[in-house]
Amino acid sequence: MQGGFSTEILQRIEALAAISEDPAWLTRVFLSPEHRRANALVQSWMSEAGMATRSDAVGNMIGRYEGERPGLPALVLGSHLDTVRKAGKYDGMLGVVTAIACVAALHRAERRLPFAVEVIGFADEEGVRFGATMLGSRAVAGTFDSALLDRRDGAGVTMAQALHDFGCDPTVLAGAAMAPRDILAYAELHIEQGPVLEARGLPVGCVTSINGASRFEVDVVGTAGHAGTVPMATRRDALAAAAQCVLAIEQRCRGEADLVGTVGVLQVSPGAINVIPGEIRFAIDLRAPHDAQRRRAEADVLELLAAIGRERGVAIAPRKVHDLPAAACAPWLMAQIDRAIAAEGVAPLRLPSGAGHDGMAMIAVAEICMIFVRCAGGISHNPAEAITAEDAEIAARVLLRFITDFEPKAGP
Ligand SMILES: [Zn+2]
Repeated sequence: MQGGFSTEILQRIEALAAISEDPAWLTRVFLSPEHRRANALVQSWMSEAGMATRSDAVGNMIGRYEGERPGLPALVLGSHLDTVRKAGKYDGMLGVVTAIACVAALHRAERRLPFAVEVIGFADEEGVRFGATMLGSRAVAGTFDSALLDRRDGAGVTMAQALHDFGCDPTVLAGAAMAPRDILAYAELHIEQGPVLEARGLPVGCVTSINGASRFEVDVVGTAGHAGTVPMATRRDALAAAAQCVLAIEQRCRGEADLVGTVGVLQVSPGAINVIPGEIRFAIDLRAPHDAQRRRAEADVLELLAAIGRERGVAIAPRKVHDLPAAACAPWLMAQIDRAIAAEGVAPLRLPSGAGHDGMAMIAVAEICMIFVRCAGGISHNPAEAITAEDAEIAARVLLRFITDFEPKAGP
């Protein structure tokens, strides 16, 4: 099964990139007319690759390539077909198109495996239309929250109505769930959306974990005062305290591999040039591939903040507003990805994913793994997103090798 994958993969990426609500930029959101057109196109490629296709109750497009006999459990490959606004054309789509190309190679070779292969083009991962993410994969994983059906988009259309208009029946959403016994594993190929592979000079890498995230809102209360009259020694400057907090968070997170911490919001009150800042609200985003590591960082950061508050005589009150656990890739699957990468002549590298992916939802129903593909400058969620034809080729070869050499987990 020799390659020559990249030409077709890149042509198909262009074909999908042309399906946009905006002629100037790629924007394709959940349950839109463009979603329907993208599904139809993907369905035609799946059929051509020898797959039986179906569209489920949330608008996912699914293709199934039977194994040596019908009805065997499946190795599930997937990624998403929706985009952010002004998107790049590889985020999500590369994984779907490459998976179909691999199945097409099996089909051309008339090769059946001891398991089925399913390819899913998820309907929603980015969450642009309804502000809730991974709706497609949550439906497949059986964790879709039906309360979301009442959510409205920017035009006031509920998700239930949008599903109905798309031809889906929102009352049978639970039927989109796959059973754990039908899935041998979930594997996703995706662009890295970060700079690590490029910096290491590698076309692909094996993901260890999709980072978990903690978010805090922090209120800092000092004393506002006249910028001209209050002596420096007696000030309780909330902004100076917050600045010290920002640096302490940066220093704590710098000290540990794979841990990242960001203060991206800082509001100053009253916010006048001649007034000592009395109140600050800032936000902390902490992410790490392992929850234990993230918990340790959280505890340390909270302790650092408390110490700064005591030292400066200001009140610092953090509130946790978000906690998303990490989704660890399964060691037995990572070992098989490493082997596939090495067999294609690439040095295996393991790296965590800083961005969220459908695997975070799929882990509720299957063990997961991911292959990352180098992207130019680590740029993503941006029309400048780019990969090379050579990398698309290697990525497809690695994925095909992973599929053909795939060994299901030995029974318990
Ligand atoms: Zn994505």
